[in-house]
Amino acid sequence: MQFVVITLFPELIHTAVQVGVVGRAIERGQVTVQAITPRDFADDVRRTVDDRPYGGGPGMVLKVEPLGLAIRTARDRLPAGSRCIYMGAEGNPLTQRKVNELKKLPGMVLLAGRYEGVDERLLTTEVDETISIGDYVLSGGELPALVLIDAVVRTLPGVLGDDESAQQDSFVNGLLDWPHYTRPQEFTGLKVPDVLIGGNHDAIRRWRLKQALGRTWLRRPELLNGRTMSTEEQLLLNEFKAEQS
Ligand code: SAM
Repeated sequence: MQFVVITLFPELIHTAVQVGVVGRAIERGQVTVQAITPRDFADDVRRTVDDRPYGGGPGMVLKVEPLGLAIRTARDRLPAGSRCIYMGAEGNPLTQRKVNELKKLPGMVLLAGRYEGVDERLLTTEVDETISIGDYVLSGGELPALVLIDAVVRTLPGVLGDDESAQQDSFVNGLLDWPHYTRPQEFTGLKVPDVLIGGNHDAIRRWRLKQALGRTWLRRPELLNGRTMSTEEQLLLNEFKAEQS
């Protein structure tokens, strides 16, 4: 999987991708992350990439020409079938379903905006899709691009030490994750649930599924809408609800 991020702050991308799961995937050659600055494609000595908005108002807008050239340069570095994605609050939400769709691509150009955003004509001519990481506004698209990279990279085969750990993450099976515990067995009077210590694997599986269903019902009930539940899941959720009252 190859990523090229178009950004005014390439150092932010270079620094962030050195650590953790993404850093290891890069070291092993499973992933590449490059950063390109549109300033290198500006045609004046001041390397201008922004200008005032037509129609007036505060803030600046990123110009179409240097960004367009940067995107075309980035595309040339990526395999055929790669996509150009603009990180923008007005875009499609980044969900686990979207991540699973993106992980099938050979590469992505990720365009990080700044200021008031980018000239709309760039979005209609060079960008395949706009993706948002949530209903709030950040100062730039670099953190959203890094969020997307991290979410995609951890799903790639062989990237996580134990492939199963990604299978158990929240949202992967449409539910939130269950609670996790490690030593000590008791902490300030709070005990680890007995079932996790008993060694009965089926009881542990059922407890975890029940907690995942229950947490989802309590915290994100909309995730359960339209879910076809097995008899076991229905039973466990009913048990969870009864325990709550
Ligand atoms: N005027 C824009 C708006 O109201 O949506 C805000 C621009 S924001 C200050 C600057 C840049 O941050 C955007 O061009 C976009 O690349 C990025 N950005 C901000 N919030 C984002 C979000 N929730 N998801 C993805 N990108 C975001």
